[in-house]
Amino acid sequence: MMNQGTRDREFFYFRVDKLFSSAPQKNLTNIFFYIFLSDINVKIYTFAKKILNMKKSLFFLIFILFFIFSVFGQVKVETADYLNYIDRDSIKKTVLDMENFTTRYAPLGNRNVAQYIQQRLVNYGIINTEIDTFYKNLPPSLLDFVPFRGYFYNVRGSILGTNSDSIVIIGAHLDAINHNGSQYVLNKNFTPGADDNASGVAIMIEMARIIHQYNLKTQNRIDFLAFDAEELGLHGAARDAQRRIAEQDKVIIMVNNDMVSNQPIEEEYRINIHWYDNARPEAEYAASVCNEYSSIRPILPQGNDNGMRENSDSWEYAKKGIKSVFFIEYSFDQDYYHTSYDICENYNYEYAEEVGKVNFALLNHYARFNSYPFDIQTVKDRENFSVYPNPVQRMANIAIPTSMYVPSCMIQVFDNYGRICYQTSVIQQRTPIDFSEFASGLYVVQLITPDGHSYSKKIVKI
Ligand SMILES: [Zn+2]
Repeated sequence: MMNQGTRDREFFYFRVDKLFSSAPQKNLTNIFFYIFLSDINVKIYTFAKKILNMKKSLFFLIFILFFIFSVFGQVKVETADYLNYIDRDSIKKTVLDMENFTTRYAPLGNRNVAQYIQQRLVNYGIINTEIDTFYKNLPPSLLDFVPFRGYFYNVRGSILGTNSDSIVIIGAHLDAINHNGSQYVLNKNFTPGADDNASGVAIMIEMARIIHQYNLKTQNRIDFLAFDAEELGLHGAARDAQRRIAEQDKVIIMVNNDMVSNQPIEEEYRINIHWYDNARPEAEYAASVCNEYSSIRPILPQGNDNGMRENSDSWEYAKKGIKSVFFIEYSFDQDYYHTSYDICENYNYEYAEEVGKVNFALLNHYARFNSYPFDIQTVKDRENFSVYPNPVQRMANIAIPTSMYVPSCMIQVFDNYGRICYQTSVIQQRTPIDFSEFASGLYVVQLITPDGHSYSKKIVKI
């Protein structure tokens, strides 16, 4: 077969030949002129063709480079590289925030709690996070003798992957209850629920924080879920699981954390992994992950001990044939469970951090994270802000380096007694603070980023 260039040239010569044959013999100069012109035409044509070909190869080159970058520029995330970033203080802060709602008893309306969780996820770049409001008409229960008619609030947001048809769900219930433990006297207005289940929500949010902060991409889709009305009968989870079936979602696994912070410091760290008949291998895999990546010994409860599996959100998924695993602390404390003592200070956030590691490893396994190497580098050398002049008489400047500048940071100034003397959320890279009215002494300036990280500097007022 002839190549394209040869055929183009022949086309031109053919036209020149025709010119010869048709031209009157006496007009030879004209003919030569035509030949001359035609030759230029051929040259111009060939040149243009070359440019076009170059353009094509340029596009091709760019395409190849892009392809190489997207395939080899991404690094498969090694779980172990990220485990040290999971932060007990960040988990604890979320628990405290949740506890500070005073009550999360679902019939009183958890819209504000849902909004808080939504905002946290949005801050971590999960901007599609929405509140899924649903109506329920519940008959009186043995705990609450009045019927309930009204709204509950789930939160759901997704990180889309390169293959968003396959979904990994990480979920936890956001509501709480206080019936005075075994006394079954309902206290609607104070349900701190730090362990049950602010701890599970905090693990879920911590996953979003790590993924955002280290700019991890995912192959499969990750759905972040916070369920309302778990304590009243797994209603939030039932709604989401129902929708999965209706929409024929392909869920690889649902990971449920419910009560994951109670662990006596002096005892061996253990966790119960409740397992479902359709997902025994997944529970065993989760156990192997505990052994490999955390200091927690996994327990797969047998027989009646596994009955608890029906008492949390994952049950609604399991019932509908969706594979799920359910993490719950091994050490169950009757004195705190569903009481006013279910408060942050009673729990072990070193343990919760270990649970976070297990969750991260599982998400990485099922969703498959990727990362660009240069992103990790920039995050690794985290900088602090600076305060000057120090000591200060009147105006101090807070200077935030570009690498950590987030417009929705907050600055707080504490005095020596830990009282807040000043705070602002209107922040530029250089933010002035007026110290002239402050008493002389030592102050701490704290910068809090939207992802819950805080940085601090001491300053002396003279
Ligand atoms: Zn509970």
